[in-house]
Amino acid sequence: MNVFVTGGAGYIGSVCVEELINAGHTVTVFDNLSEGHRSAVDPRARFLLGDLADRELVARSLTEARAEAVIHFAAHALVGESMQNPGKYFRNNVANGLNLLDAAVAAHVRKFVFSSTCATYGVPEQMPMDETLPQRPVNPYGESKLMFERMLQWYQQLHGLEFVAFRYFNAAGASKKFGEHHRVETHLIPNVLKVALGQKEQCDIFGTNYPTLDGTCIRDYIHIVDLAQAHILALAPGKQGFFNLGNGSGYSVREVIQACERVSGRSIKAVEQPRRPGDPPRLVAAADKALRELDWRPKFPKLEDIVATAWDWHRRHPQGYRD
Ligand code: UDP
Repeated sequence: MNVFVTGGAGYIGSVCVEELINAGHTVTVFDNLSEGHRSAVDPRARFLLGDLADRELVARSLTEARAEAVIHFAAHALVGESMQNPGKYFRNNVANGLNLLDAAVAAHVRKFVFSSTCATYGVPEQMPMDETLPQRPVNPYGESKLMFERMLQWYQQLHGLEFVAFRYFNAAGASKKFGEHHRVETHLIPNVLKVALGQKEQCDIFGTNYPTLDGTCIRDYIHIVDLAQAHILALAPGKQGFFNLGNGSGYSVREVIQACERVSGRSIKAVEQPRRPGDPPRLVAAADKALRELDWRPKFPKLEDIVATAWDWHRRHPQGYRD
């Protein structure tokens, strides 16, 4: 298929583009490079520098690409930042995303695949979390993604736009070529590995008094290549709806740091800090629906294997991407 990928220069997008092309698809990447990197775009893809705020450009680009499917990664995705600057999240993730949605309808796109998040559930009442749980976000990031999910449902009902929305848990790891490089890194695993690489003295543990076994937050880490594979499966005709993507195993912040120590063979100094606003204590997926309906089979379910691919990439790219 001709696939139009927004945010294809970002962390998850770059690996998805690589996997799409490996699977035989033709890819156009649309990215403003605010967070992504030009060298993270697979050279086999066509690259368009552009911003989703530019309604006409989005519409023209989609038509020129003869897009049959859209995969929409481009968004701001930091819980902490969204608590400081909610407008940034609603403007980009909702208003600018709407330009893309309208363009997709106008261009008669057959399938719209959307990167949503487990942050749409807020603090869940039940663990592991399936797709039927109530969605009550506790930060503007989650709220902005939920608003887009709702727009998708209306667009499906009223315009017949078929969509798949993936609620990601914590994306981690790397492919052989593409990995995680944010200009300001806030995520746990890359920050812990920076200490192992000798680039930082110490890493932070945000919150040690959560109601969990060791007092630190629990997350479900999912390998980036496994995430990418789910997007490819979603392109098949008839696949539709909301799907959690996670491994179903939760690891605490302390357990992640220990896994990084084992994989790197280095000791990692961690400092206990206050809680980070907006963080739910525990988020673990029940992803049975994706396994059942999409025939999705994660290849890297073990945390250590996920961390090992990240460690390998960071060792080979100690400064990340050059641009
Ligand atoms: N975290 C931490 N130290 C860091 C970065 C993150 O303790 O340097 C914690 C964070 O509070 C959360 C978990 O690790 O409980 C995962 O955070 P991350 O930012 O990687 O992903 P998020 O769950 O926010 O999407």
